[in-house]
Amino acid sequence: MNSKHDTCGGARVAVIGAGIGGAAVAALMQRAGYKVTVYEQYERFAPAGGGIHLSPNLMRVLRHLDVHRHVLLKGQEPCAFLNRDGTSGEMLFALSLGESAHRQFGAPFVAVRRGELHTALMSAVTPGSVRWAKRLAGIDWGGETIVLGFDDGSRVECDAVIAADGLRSSVRGALRGREQPVFSGQVAFRGSYPREDLRGLAVDDLTKWWDAERFVLSYWLDRARRDFYFAAMMPQASWSTEASSMPADPDEMRHAFRDFHPDVKRMLAHAPRAGVAKWALFERPPHFEFGTSRIVLIGDACHPMRPFMSQGAAMALEDAVMLTRALVGAGDFEPAFRSFAQARRKRLTQVHRVSAANTFMRGETDARWVFGYDALGAQASPRLPA
Ligand code: FAD
Repeated sequence: MNSKHDTCGGARVAVIGAGIGGAAVAALMQRAGYKVTVYEQYERFAPAGGGIHLSPNLMRVLRHLDVHRHVLLKGQEPCAFLNRDGTSGEMLFALSLGESAHRQFGAPFVAVRRGELHTALMSAVTPGSVRWAKRLAGIDWGGETIVLGFDDGSRVECDAVIAADGLRSSVRGALRGREQPVFSGQVAFRGSYPREDLRGLAVDDLTKWWDAERFVLSYWLDRARRDFYFAAMMPQASWSTEASSMPADPDEMRHAFRDFHPDVKRMLAHAPRAGVAKWALFERPPHFEFGTSRIVLIGDACHPMRPFMSQGAAMALEDAVMLTRALVGAGDFEPAFRSFAQARRKRLTQVHRVSAANTFMRGETDARWVFGYDALGAQASPRLPA
């Protein structure tokens, strides 16, 4: 073991990216006694994004960080996750949630605006430990310490790096060369609008309307069921820009789903002209690269996946827990990063594969392997302090 880092608690850990995974890992490691600084390219905290599912495996982590109440207050606990045939409306599979989620999976299932999840996680990060407007431009790990270079010209030394810098991770690029994530050949139209604009259409809490190659997901974003959200996924041959999303023409979306169930067509018909975005769905092949001896990748930097199981953020949070546990157990970075990679590979491979296949809950499904997973108690030692 490298004596310099025998007690990781004294080492300087840099987290790149104050997104979902970065905020979570910083908060967890700070609680475990680590000196963690987060470097984020944006100038200030600006929570963004559409709707997101917080499945019970993710909610357990928020509960551990004691920030779960925020999303419970802001979001909605759907009564059930309904899966219907996209054309006939026939029920394919209904998963009871609400109270039943607590009983079956040990934590609630919540639908909420992504920004509220981000707000909750950021509230757990030590004040003053995030450096804003710091876009990582280069990283040199050849010496005794690691040197981070930012595009404002500044440089910082640290002892270990956690790359939580998302889909187009520059840390990953520095380690492996610039490999673009792969466009999956699928896009999703996403948008939200107020309940009144549904014009009397009765909408269940959470429904996935399935077709062979397309689906529409519909749910409420808030406890009072005031804000309605949809995501409509379909194949598309190519995506010509690096940006993940662009404003969309709702008529293109309505045309693409014109053969869907009348209720779905009404939901999409009421979408506002401005306010629908088209998102490209990217992934990386599932031979995960977790980093090197003093640099580790988590979340989308490591394993971006298609969002068909709504597990991207959940996997980033599970990573954050498992990495912190590995560090607390190992006391040095290299063995900790190795045991973290070992502990995550099987689960990530499974979730990545089932997400890509888009089969989860299409018919009778035992969801416990996904939602019942407890990163805080899963095999790996030791457990984190409460
Ligand atoms: P991010 O949250 O993307 O954070 C990366 C951070 O790094 C950002 O703040 C960024 O500004 C910063 N950064 C990037 N480069 C640099 C740099 N060079 N220097 C400094 N900072 C940098 N997941 C779910 O769990 N449930 C869902 O319902 C769900 N729905 C989804 C729907 C769609 C259409 C899509 C596309 C994704 C969905 N996801 C969902 C996935 C989820 O949003 C991501 O998996 C999650 O945000 C990954 O977290 P992360 O921390 O790895 O990356």
